[in-house]
Amino acid sequence: MAMAARSAGAAARPTLPVMRTVADLRRTVAAWRAAGQTVGLVPTMGALHAGHLALVRRAQADCDRTIVTLFVNPTQFGAGEDFAAYPRDEAEDRAKLATVGADLLYAPGVTEIYPDGFATTVTVASLTDGLCGPVRPGHFSGVATVVTKLLLQSLPDAAYFGEKDYQQLLVIRRLARDLDIPVRIEGVPTVRDADGLALSSRNRYLSAGERAAAVALPTILRQVAERLTDPTRAVADETARARDALLQAGFTRIDYVEVCDAETLEPLAHVTRPARILAAAWLGSTRLIDNMPVGRA
Ligand code: AMP
Repeated sequence: MAMAARSAGAAARPTLPVMRTVADLRRTVAAWRAAGQTVGLVPTMGALHAGHLALVRRAQADCDRTIVTLFVNPTQFGAGEDFAAYPRDEAEDRAKLATVGADLLYAPGVTEIYPDGFATTVTVASLTDGLCGPVRPGHFSGVATVVTKLLLQSLPDAAYFGEKDYQQLLVIRRLARDLDIPVRIEGVPTVRDADGLALSSRNRYLSAGERAAAVALPTILRQVAERLTDPTRAVADETARARDALLQAGFTRIDYVEVCDAETLEPLAHVTRPARILAAAWLGSTRLIDNMPVGRA
């Protein structure tokens, strides 16, 4: 009977423990620490795809135990953004994580993270002056605050973030250094679909036509990145051409296409040092971001 029950569809899937409170999380991590085990943390907002799972695999390769967090953080969404509509399917996410063998899903409720009277915000200056910073006011403070909390709640050896959100990765590196949080912040290369589109939980918003047009974003960024390996070429000319090409390909609005220093995100006029091309553009009501290294990055 037990065997029959185990082989019956979903019941046969390995399950993964879920915790909802800081107290439970800390107890579990303390037991792992007492056993001499190292801990990796992978913060996510769920709607997991192969990009998230690459972070989990990397954490598992580096650490004895891997915690994945699932929290759709209200403070990083602006008014009119997609907080309410953001895809949520914890059961599906849990099943995916069980198949890659994560050790724990930490999925706190909003009041566990932001209890009544919550009044503290972490703000990282300078790195957030450009790119997504001005277009999404308050976004990076929301991210920095929640990531600081998740790091302090779990105190992992390392935490893993995707290069897909390159500005976010640098912001988190900065806050960990500035606040002396004893954690390694590791960046993981962007996982892409076969045609080059970066995987994103938001890709599911795209219609078939928009999905076909979306591939122009990585294609054009790659072409410009290649051209800019020649330091005599002006970044402004190349990014202007990229914006035109994106609009031609069906993008409806462009927030930015910029080439920046790979560490400071200072805008560059010519690529004479390690650099990154970064873009954010809209297809109808869906905003896509992408970035890649330029030249000697
Ligand atoms: P999110 O759930 O969108 O907040 O993303 C959680 C983490 O997964 C962040 O560190 C993202 O940068 C990372 N991530 C999202 N998409 C990708 C991707 N296509 N490749 C690698 N990492 C990704």
